[in-house]
Amino acid sequence: MPQKQNYASKAEQGMLKKPPSPPLSECFPTVAGIVIKMTYYRKRANPILMLRTVNILPVDEACFNMNCMIKGCSDGGFDLTSVVSKMVMSRKGAAKGKLSCLGHGDVLDPAEHASVEYEIGVRYKRLR
Ligand SMILES: [Zn+2]
Repeated sequence: MPQKQNYASKAEQGMLKKPPSPPLSECFPTVAGIVIKMTYYRKRANPILMLRTVNILPVDEACFNMNCMIKGCSDGGFDLTSVVSKMVMSRKGAAKGKLSCLGHGDVLDPAEHASVEYEIGVRYKRLR
């Protein structure tokens, strides 16, 4: 997996605050498009914080690291990169799951952190 190693070493260098992701077509050449639907949950009041749908096309940046929507959260977020990679490797079309925010904000109790439910749909290019 030369691509993966390359990606990891770039991230480890930490030269850039937010390393630019290569386009989707480069990371996952077999993929024609990805749709990610997310429902953000907050633990206490207003349990559903927001709904979000992200469409990623081959020309778009292959960025599956979604921000945490909670104010005061630092270094948080939801990284769907490994989920998407696994799906593409097994040519899976759909996946569902749940993730909790990994961040830590000064203001926040970890129990108050957001979580998301995600639904990922991957469309593949036709095989020749
Ligand atoms: Zn968070």
